[in-house]
Amino acid sequence: MTFSDFGFHEQIIQGIQSMGYEKPTLVQEQAIPAILSGCDVIACAQTGTGKTAAYLLPVLHKMIFAGHRHLNTLIIAPTRELVQQIDQQIEGLAYFTGISSIAIYGGGDGQTWEQQKRALEKGADMVVATPGRLLALLAAGTTVFDHLEHLILDEADRMLDMGFFDDIIKIVSHLPAQRQTLLFSATMPPKIRNLAHRILHNPVEVNIAIAKPAEGITQQAYLVFDRQKDQLLTHLLQSHTWKSLILFASTKETVKQLARRFAQMGMDVKPFHSDLSQAEREEIMRAFRNRQIPVLIGTDVLSRGIDVEGISMVINWDVPPDPEDYVHRIGRTARAESTGTAITFINEKDLKKFQRIEKLIGTSIPVLPLPDFLGEGPSRTMPTVETKHSREKIKGTPRRYFKRR
Ligand code: AMP
Repeated sequence: MTFSDFGFHEQIIQGIQSMGYEKPTLVQEQAIPAILSGCDVIACAQTGTGKTAAYLLPVLHKMIFAGHRHLNTLIIAPTRELVQQIDQQIEGLAYFTGISSIAIYGGGDGQTWEQQKRALEKGADMVVATPGRLLALLAAGTTVFDHLEHLILDEADRMLDMGFFDDIIKIVSHLPAQRQTLLFSATMPPKIRNLAHRILHNPVEVNIAIAKPAEGITQQAYLVFDRQKDQLLTHLLQSHTWKSLILFASTKETVKQLARRFAQMGMDVKPFHSDLSQAEREEIMRAFRNRQIPVLIGTDVLSRGIDVEGISMVINWDVPPDPEDYVHRIGRTARAESTGTAITFINEKDLKKFQRIEKLIGTSIPVLPLPDFLGEGPSRTMPTVETKHSREKIKGTPRRYFKRR
């Protein structure tokens, strides 16, 4: 599926391209059509899944097509940081549309209050606000949401945990009854159902809550340039103890290349990708299960649902584009209460994707220093440019570490 399949306005497509999104995430695939159709939506999706764009894109599209007046869309989120993040995503995605937004949150001095009050009175197209400050401004009586068409609650479960239930109900009482309401929440406890019942109308449900990585998986990562990856992999294979291993790569071309290189090194490996027939895939899986093949090299076709016990190590040759695929990939190890190691190679272009994974799983993954003989890898602060120094260090690497291709 691509973003063009939603029939988005050209200005929205330009915004998506400028943000560097290549294809919709799962929550976007599911929520966008429902929102475009005008239904209320209740979506269970965690941070890192692309949930913000899942509601922003269709709402922006509708605003362009239907025409809109000021204060068309209200987004309520629990914290100042989230409000700022959402506002920034609007800035990026709506860049080519001329649609404006303002962020309203607590703190600051009397001057900030006055600025926010004036901005609301002047009227932006979209308002992103924390509940407390918005309610205080509404109580001041100068802001009127008569033309509001979209109400969005983001991280609704966190808002309720913070005691905002009554504030939300009060805010909603200031809004037109005829509107589209979207509720996004990482979890769906009964109190969220209760809130949804009060403010949503026949909502479509979208549920893409995903499992967190198992506790027994030791996750590690290396910042590494592409040209250093071969040697790092060889080093890891030699320095770790493992019986069965899966090496993941994002494209089948890379999988095929890696399989050829391994074979040249005299290792018994099989590539696993979508070009193989079902019978071939089954044959490979059988051999892997029986330990006849110690290493499988696969695309994400291999990352979902394959349950083989005793896979002690997973190596990600690159960072998967979809953060959920990371969870699926590393979930191939440490199955059934056992332990395992998952190591990810991050090149300078994959840093952003890696940060999305950390956001999704809610922990930071330790990034280990490269072995000395490899020289320097990319730095964690983007963008990274290879230095002459790091190149020279690699050139000086002892011969024995280079494997023939
Ligand atoms: P969220 O789950 O909304 O917090 O989004 C997490 C991160 O994913 C943000 O940095 C977004 O800019 C990014 N993002 C959202 N949709 C996509 C997509 N389709 N492709 C790549 N990145 C995305």
